[in-house]
Amino acid sequence: MAGPVLKACKGCNFISEADICPRCGEQTSREWQGYVAVVDFEKSEIAQRMGITANGRYALKVR
Ligand SMILES: [Zn+2]
Repeated sequence: MAGPVLKACKGCNFISEADICPRCGEQTSREWQGYVAVVDFEKSEIAQRMGITANGRYALKVR
């Protein structure tokens, strides 16, 4: 049994189950690799480097 399919946004890399990103409205893709979980974006160096301005999970690569 497959669980919910997670998709990553082509615009902001945010991971969700939606076809359209709930954050920025871009299309999401099932073709993505790796992710970072940002729990405190204000203190996260990765979040700053990726331009992340909200907590959540973000894909490292989206095709
Ligand atoms: Zn997005």
